[in-house]
Amino acid sequence: MIKIDVDMAVCQHYGQCVFEAPTVFTLNADDKLEYLASVDDSLLAEVESAIDVCPMQAIRIVE
Ligand code: SF4
Repeated sequence: MIKIDVDMAVCQHYGQCVFEAPTVFTLNADDKLEYLASVDDSLLAEVESAIDVCPMQAIRIVE
């Protein structure tokens, strides 16, 4: 499993990560980011793409 952490203190909720990894990241009804903190290894490429596009560098893989 991949553990993901998003620094919500710096996330601007623009949602670029949602386009790259819609399985992992979503914007809720209030346009706030929600994400799965733990995902299957098969989603690594998506998560890495989301990390790459995040303008705030808010996403990281914990382990
Ligand atoms: S791309 Fe980064 S700043 Fe934008 S919503 Fe995702 S985590 Fe937040």
